[in-house]
Amino acid sequence: MTQGFVTVSYIGAAILFIMSLGGLSNQETAGRGNTYGIIGMTIALVATIASGHVTTYGTLAGGMLVGGIIGAIVAARVAMTAMPELVAILHSFVGLAAVLIGFANYLGLDPVLEFAGEHGAAERSIHEVEIYLGILIGAITWTGSIIAFGKLKGSISGKPWLLPGRHLLNASLGLLTLWLLFQFVGAPWPGQAGSLLGSGFLPLAVMTAVALFFGVHMVMAIGGADMPVVISMLNSYSGWAAAATGFMLANDLLIVTGALVGSSGAILSYIMCRAMNRRFFAVIMGGFGTESTGTSAAAPGGEVIAASAEETAEMLRAARSVIIVPGYGMAVAQAQHSVSEITRLLRDRKVNVRFGIHPVAGRMPGHMNVLLAEAKVPYDIVLEMDEINEDFSDTDVVLVIGANDIVNPAAQEDPGSPIAGMPVLEVWKAKTVVVSKRSMATGYAGVDNPLFYKDNTRMLFGDAKNSVDAVLKALG
Ligand code: NDP
Repeated sequence: MTQGFVTVSYIGAAILFIMSLGGLSNQETAGRGNTYGIIGMTIALVATIASGHVTTYGTLAGGMLVGGIIGAIVAARVAMTAMPELVAILHSFVGLAAVLIGFANYLGLDPVLEFAGEHGAAERSIHEVEIYLGILIGAITWTGSIIAFGKLKGSISGKPWLLPGRHLLNASLGLLTLWLLFQFVGAPWPGQAGSLLGSGFLPLAVMTAVALFFGVHMVMAIGGADMPVVISMLNSYSGWAAAATGFMLANDLLIVTGALVGSSGAILSYIMCRAMNRRFFAVIMGGFGTESTGTSAAAPGGEVIAASAEETAEMLRAARSVIIVPGYGMAVAQAQHSVSEITRLLRDRKVNVRFGIHPVAGRMPGHMNVLLAEAKVPYDIVLEMDEINEDFSDTDVVLVIGANDIVNPAAQEDPGSPIAGMPVLEVWKAKTVVVSKRSMATGYAGVDNPLFYKDNTRMLFGDAKNSVDAVLKALG
């Protein structure tokens, strides 16, 4: 394939990626967005493989086959509730790839052939900075995403891990990284020095170790409820790592694609920060969401009032307006289809049913929207928190299905709470709130919820799918 044809293919793929992102921003066009993305990626792969740069077709075919089979099996097997972990571990692979490509590129530099032209010295320095940045961002993304994976899976505690002098340590690591950059740029390449240790490899390897530690330290220091921002931030980092690799390999499409992922991830992080009422720069610096004293973790105490499925059905039957607030527990119980069924039944009876979606409900951005779309809940009754929060006081019944942190009034009432300041769905303002969950256990942030003890709250204990099915039966 000629270089001109490759360039045209890359431009086409880049346009398709932009159209894909545009499509993914809305539920109704998300399917189309995915299709654009798949076509764009196919074009990109075919053009790259057919370009003159690729010579080792056997190795490439082997890698694609093994990677493709593993990817297909994992994607087919993954439970909907485990999607956030899968996304986190995939981000870590992008980081790992950037690190490996960086080292391979550096070790393969040929002192005779490379940068021999007129501007050779400047080009060489630029290329070294590209390698350094690619490995730096890649290493942070790699270990940071592995920790995020562990935290989402529950194998690493959600509690922030705070080393003494954390900010000083981070600043020192930043300065060390800068110093190592100056040691690396201009140092002889392994092929010139004749040995690895006498070349720029040593500062590069030390920087990699520092960046790997920084990735762990940064994400370990994040408090449980603040993880959504970290997920989108690591998404952004993985994009910048790919863009840096694109510069390293002089691959325009990788630069564009990486920049698209990096900037859209950064915008998502910003939106998440606004949704959680946190400061963007505090997140970027790491150690975010740890200022709280956690004094509110003390149980609110008091009596809770339980309700049966029949009583809940009775309340719904008498209601004229109902808001359903889904959370992570709905995903765990896979209750979305039953919830959709209740919605249909109530709407048939002329009840005004709407959904209130918190931006960080579930375990990944858009988690609830995906589940409700899968269960064919009409999009026009699924509203964002800002669109519906004022309507709770005019609502007869709010059904909270497996949600906890996102409806916790402590965020507004208790300044010492780890979730203080986070905007929440003000469900307690409705006439009656029915909370479907299995026990009095806390949510992801590990904070007790005073909502459960309010006079107008009824607890519908049990697995969300069983409870909703029982309510459906009693309604029907
Ligand atoms: P929470 O984690 O706060 O609460 C979920 C509740 O669901 C639990 O209290 C649990 O109680 C209940 N539950 C679990 N399984 C079932 C079941 N089978 N049937 C019924 N109930 C069940 O979820 P929210 O959606 O309210 O809040 C999301 C939290 O996750 C926030 O803290 C957010 O910051 C965090 N997070 C969000 C991410 C995102 O991108 N959206 C990413 C990472 C973290 P019980 O055990 O008693 O049943």
